[in-house]
Amino acid sequence: LCTDQFRANAHTLVDWMADYLRDVEQYPVKSSVKPGEILAELPASPPEQGEPFADIFADFQETIMPGITHWQHPLFCAYFPANSSPPSVLAEMLTATLGAQCMIWETSPAAAELEERCMEWLQELIGLPGEFVGVIQDTASTATLSALLSARERASGFTVNHTGLYDSPRYVVYASQEAHSSIDKAVRIAGLGTDNLRKISVDENYALKPEALIEAIKHDQAQGMVPLCIIASLGTTSSTAVDPLAEIGRIARDENLWLHVDAAYAGSALILPELREYLEEIETVDSFVFNPHKWLFTNFDCSAYFVQDKAALIRTFEILPEYLKTGHASEVNNYRDWGVPLGRRFRALKLWFVMRSYGVEGLRTRIRQHIAWAYLFRSWIESTLDFEVLAPSPFGLVCFRYTPIGTTEAERDELNAALKERINASGELYITHTKLGGRYTLRMVIGQTEVTLAHIKKAWEIIQSTAHSLC
Ligand code: PLP
Repeated sequence: LCTDQFRANAHTLVDWMADYLRDVEQYPVKSSVKPGEILAELPASPPEQGEPFADIFADFQETIMPGITHWQHPLFCAYFPANSSPPSVLAEMLTATLGAQCMIWETSPAAAELEERCMEWLQELIGLPGEFVGVIQDTASTATLSALLSARERASGFTVNHTGLYDSPRYVVYASQEAHSSIDKAVRIAGLGTDNLRKISVDENYALKPEALIEAIKHDQAQGMVPLCIIASLGTTSSTAVDPLAEIGRIARDENLWLHVDAAYAGSALILPELREYLEEIETVDSFVFNPHKWLFTNFDCSAYFVQDKAALIRTFEILPEYLKTGHASEVNNYRDWGVPLGRRFRALKLWFVMRSYGVEGLRTRIRQHIAWAYLFRSWIESTLDFEVLAPSPFGLVCFRYTPIGTTEAERDELNAALKERINASGELYITHTKLGGRYTLRMVIGQTEVTLAHIKKAWEIIQSTAHSLC
């Protein structure tokens, strides 16, 4: 290792990073490269001899950067945010430098104990009661898979891990029609089969209908199937709809089903005391996931997974080859037994940096502001004759479409698809779409770390002027 060279290169990078974060708005928010364009620039084989840092960094700037979509641009209003922040980036630098693999307590005691404490902090922040324990997972998809596997194991008396599903009853999983595709994937991977996933109908606000859920459960029971798990959404991907948790909780309790809550995006908003009402009857929930890597200023990846039945979680995943046997097992958390992967990054560090740097009040102020601006943006749409909102906006997402007078439904779908393409091609704003009630719907998400009211006003001007340029 040449320390001087590493230091000099690192300083070059840090200067670039600071400039990037300051100037991110100067870049087109969405990359406009064509498929294969970057690939064509990359040599087919790796270099035989090592190359100087300066050359690699120059290629990063010239070849790689044009193919980057700028997720930290304040007018990245697509999908859901994957927002980061300076303290989180700094912690990631330390994590990379330490290069610790934190699979068990002994492989880095500080990582395990910081994770334990940070998850307690998060739990307190979002108002989950003390019976829950938390663990960091890579993504909400993995957390939901973990929930289903634990549900399957607990329901089977912890036998399926050993015998497979051959002699099992036909287990059934329930989620709304608007639930995330990670649930379909988890059902497949858990061996339960997508034919046994019931997509329950939703009401006019795109939230699961409890009466349809009960009906489906009763129907399946009558057919000799065994209801296993309900996955409720607290903030669906299309429209941030919130399923009625209290009612679903009562059904889960009455029927003795595992209840998992997917709050991947909206869970961060629960740090606001005024939104705690969403956690009504939370004690009926078995597991809960939300992503600080979406809306809590913490770099991807960092998904917070909470369970009430820690023993069921560990029993589902525990496996102990000789080489991993260490002392202290009863006194510490060996997180390798709390999820799918063995190897684990030191993810708690960035969460610790973020929570300490902003403080609870700082985090709350930002999220509260995002929600207020979404409300304001919505009010502008509502007061404009040729646009309409298409769903409630309880968090930072507004679903809307352009509806010039005299256009048919089919024309509106085409017009809004064209509007999205033209806005995104401008490089000034990036939005995405969904379908709600069969209608092509534009999604504007406000949740960037450095977004301001001026940005939201600019976004609305871009949307209006682009729409009027179309028709
Ligand atoms: N659940 C919901 C409601 C989501 O919106 C998303 C992603 O946007 C996911 C799950 C999947 O999240 P992850 O990428 O962490 O697996």
